[in-house]
Amino acid sequence: MKAVLIHTHGGPEVLEYTDFQTPEPGANEVLVRLEAAALNRLDLWVRKGWPGINLAYPHIPGADGAGVIAAAGKGVQEWSAGDRVVINANIGCWECEYCLSGLDNQCRNWHMLGETMRGTYAEYVCVPARNVFAIPAGFNEHIAAAGALVYHTAWHSLITRGNLRPGESIAVVGVSGGVNTASIDVAKFVGATVYAVGSSQEKLALAESLGADYLIDRSKDKDWSKVIYKLTGRRGVDVVVDNVGTTFPLSFRAARKGGRILTVGNTGGSKIEIDNRYVFGKHLSLIGSTMGTWHDFASVMELIYAGRLRPVLDRSYPLAEARLAQERLEKGQQLGKITLEIGS
Ligand SMILES: [Zn+2]
Repeated sequence: MKAVLIHTHGGPEVLEYTDFQTPEPGANEVLVRLEAAALNRLDLWVRKGWPGINLAYPHIPGADGAGVIAAAGKGVQEWSAGDRVVINANIGCWECEYCLSGLDNQCRNWHMLGETMRGTYAEYVCVPARNVFAIPAGFNEHIAAAGALVYHTAWHSLITRGNLRPGESIAVVGVSGGVNTASIDVAKFVGATVYAVGSSQEKLALAESLGADYLIDRSKDKDWSKVIYKLTGRRGVDVVVDNVGTTFPLSFRAARKGGRILTVGNTGGSKIEIDNRYVFGKHLSLIGSTMGTWHDFASVMELIYAGRLRPVLDRSYPLAEARLAQERLEKGQQLGKITLEIGS
């Protein structure tokens, strides 16, 4: 098969489009012939590496993918060749206490497609049969792939962990990233009032198209927490989505007393100084999570198929041009999700 391999960490130049052995499905696995893959910031982190990461080289990046079942391994009864599916990249063991409680994103033997396993920048990928979900006839595979990881993550953070309710107010810090745009979409779906904090008019226009109620340009208002404070009548918002991390001091100020800070990432860096007086003085809850549960995935994909949640597509590249696609993501030029076109 054709695949994009990396043999070492580094810049976009380490991505190599070449031939690689087609994997074979083991017991309880399916082989998916991919038609679309979607890029995530995770792909860049994995390519660059971090202390402690241990990839099995050659590694294939990519967490998101959609395509057609090509073969089913031993013991697989629910899928057969030709079924159209989208992949859930959160891979649990379904034997540990967390998985058995339905919290497969807290699995003790947790795996992540494209990070601890070879991923979707390829013509074929093998995943556990329980990690694929049917795509209805006629539904676009790029939208399915683009929605999977970011909506799964946003839904788990906002709804399952954050318990966002209709009528609540929520600030989303940064609006061009995939999880953040999905967060705006999910928040509007549940009937929350959204304050979008973005770095340019172009990005804020995307937030507005997703239904954001208040647009705050942080290139003009550096202390956007003050703007939120004023807009909410000196109350603050119920919930802040902060996947930047280094912006926590402002998020703590923008939250109301008893507010929740939700985080699933740290695009601004991993080390943050926290003024603890805000945490206890304002009764704040800091709620972290990563990915989502099997149930979250099923919920969110059904809503995407029904058109109630709408992943935004940026641009699509052929698999052979994965390097260009990653460069676009790395420069932050995208508005919505970048996808790869595979095998056409
Ligand atoms: Zn487990």
